[in-house]
Amino acid sequence: MSLDHTHDPALCSWVASANTADTDFPIQNLPFGAFRRQGSGEPLRVGVAIGDQILDLKLAAQASDWSSEVSALLAPLATGDLNALMAQVPKARRALRAALSNALAEGSTQHPALQACLVSQTAAEMALPCRIGDYTDFYVGIHHATAVGRLFRPDNPLLPNYKWVPIGYHGRASTIQPNGVDFHRPCGQVKGPQDEAPRLAPSQRLDLELELGIFIGQANAQGRPVSMDEAEDHVFGITLFNDWSARDLQAWEYQPLGPFLSKSFASTLSPWIVTLEALAPFRRPFVRGEGEPEPLPYLDGEANRAQGAIDIALEVRLQTPAMRAQGVADECISRSNFADAAYWTVAQLVAHHTVNGCALNPGDLFGSGTLSGPTRAQAGSLLEASLGGKEPLQLANGEQRTFLLDGDEIALVGRCSREGFKSIGFGPCRGTVLPALPALPSCAG
Ligand code: MN
Repeated sequence: MSLDHTHDPALCSWVASANTADTDFPIQNLPFGAFRRQGSGEPLRVGVAIGDQILDLKLAAQASDWSSEVSALLAPLATGDLNALMAQVPKARRALRAALSNALAEGSTQHPALQACLVSQTAAEMALPCRIGDYTDFYVGIHHATAVGRLFRPDNPLLPNYKWVPIGYHGRASTIQPNGVDFHRPCGQVKGPQDEAPRLAPSQRLDLELELGIFIGQANAQGRPVSMDEAEDHVFGITLFNDWSARDLQAWEYQPLGPFLSKSFASTLSPWIVTLEALAPFRRPFVRGEGEPEPLPYLDGEANRAQGAIDIALEVRLQTPAMRAQGVADECISRSNFADAAYWTVAQLVAHHTVNGCALNPGDLFGSGTLSGPTRAQAGSLLEASLGGKEPLQLANGEQRTFLLDGDEIALVGRCSREGFKSIGFGPCRGTVLPALPALPSCAG
């Protein structure tokens, strides 16, 4: 991951809102998303977030002069096809990033032509950024795995494979939804410890999971594992990802094959994919602690040790219906950091996923797993924050929560900061719990 002029903190944009200290989208970020003008019904196109605006790449491709290499990269983006760019080698992605950086920089000769290609983010309707083929959810948060394991196995919280195998399961892509799309509380089989038999009911232990979404770029052919040295060439970028979870459904269904319907009713993705190139300044060494087993050789690499981790500060914010009624802002209920929470790096996830020859495709999504810190105040799920539902979380307005109630809104926030560099963010990742649908008579609550 190398730094170049696109990361220069002195670089400013002719889009004034991109130059404020608190924007998620300074010219050093340049994340990709899919959108249309709100209410227009026009076909989706790919855009780049810049300050509080979007550069519409469909318009920009026609309005300005680009090199033939960049024009070819822009062509599929004009039709909303981000997967085509994701499939490119990193060199091509870097060429497009450099061209967009030059075009949006203060003093650019392209400014007059591109001014009319801006759309205000408030006037845009964001869709999922790309076609998501397959979705795998990992479990890299060691503090989460330990805290959850402790609820079930106080003496032996981590299973013996955890420090050797990046644990994951295959999820469903069909219910991943963009920021701001609400969802109904799911129904499913639940069985209390004293119940003789399970029953169908709305989940009473609905939870969030603070995760990152990792988007695959270039494909690997089936049968061809990706080595650690090549792994990041197959990663396009990162988003926020809330993997809503029904803990009561999960507890009853998860053995012996893992989570199933407790996870596949809804997951929320932030709209902008922050590229691996944009994250270059925020890389950190990946080091295993004292006494921890070293990764097997296929999960080890020099670059991974030097800068395999990514410093992303994360927050979970809750707004209850009462807070909305009282006009109170949402409350931060958890803070953690990807670099501190994750036992495995992004490169290790790619190398492990493909070691058996599994093919990954552009637009495939990995969930990181819940990214909790070591303390309860850093819990990335309510399951941990409430110690399995036993000790409610106290909110500042006097309310309590063990699990989510109808009307609760969760927002995830991500931000990268480092001395000497421009801070970048990930945009919104919000969703609200709606009441269960009375679709089945026995599920009406
Ligand atoms: Mn998950």
